Amino acid sequence: MQKRQHIVAGNWKMNLSYLEGRDLVREITDRLQPTETLVVLAPPFIHLNNIGNIIHGISNIYLGAQNCHWAEAGAYTGEVSARMLASIEVGFVIIGHSERREYFAETDAMLAQKTDAVLAHNMRPIFCCGEKLDVREAEKQEELVSEQLHSGLFHLSPDAFRQVVIAYEPVWAIGTGKTASPQQAQDMHAFIRQLIAEQYGQDIADATPILYGGSCNPSNARELFQQPDVDGGLIGGASLKAADFLAIVNSF
Ligand code: PEP
Repeated sequence: MQKRQHIVAGNWKMNLSYLEGRDLVREITDRLQPTETLVVLAPPFIHLNNIGNIIHGISNIYLGAQNCHWAEAGAYTGEVSARMLASIEVGFVIIGHSERREYFAETDAMLAQKTDAVLAHNMRPIFCCGEKLDVREAEKQEELVSEQLHSGLFHLSPDAFRQVVIAYEPVWAIGTGKTASPQQAQDMHAFIRQLIAEQYGQDIADATPILYGGSCNPSNARELFQQPDVDGGLIGGASLKAADFLAIVNSF
């Protein structure tokens, strides 16, 4: 079986001024040890170009965006297209974060179109899935995640799917300090890999990075990343402090 890529992506959400963001990235790049883990920084849009310049030429660190629109261009006030992101060398785009689904009413149909736009511009989607607490309590989390993947991703051709990164983020664990146990994460990641295998075959399933997200921090990252189907993390709060973020990057 081929070795899967390890990825740690920092989702800054709507945090940090221009100068605060610049300082954080300088600190991260100054202290980053050589690593085989791919590091993705996903700041708000206003930071992207400057951070792109700071990380230029440093291996294994990539620019990520938190969202994009599905259209190439046009009358969509306030939006940013995949084409624009690609033009400043963004490598990854987070698609379908639960906060986008919840507060901006993003539907699976929209997410499928956004995924297509990202891939059409040779970037990699980090496609988020995950259940809310009531769904977990009703033990329906596998059904829900299966539905999210079928609606948002499984229309892709096998070749296109090879570029996809999945982030499993149980909504009840995001920003709550309540992490999924390593076993809960492993069970869902193994389930997701099995869904991919059914759709695209075992080789593609074995090669697809599946990240865990939800209150991941320096104290719990190692145990989570030791699970056989957990290939890294999508990190919110802990990505805003260089020391914490780097400790997570170094947790493999
Ligand atoms: C996230 O927003 O993707 C996330 C995982 O947040 P946090 O790490 O703060 O729970």
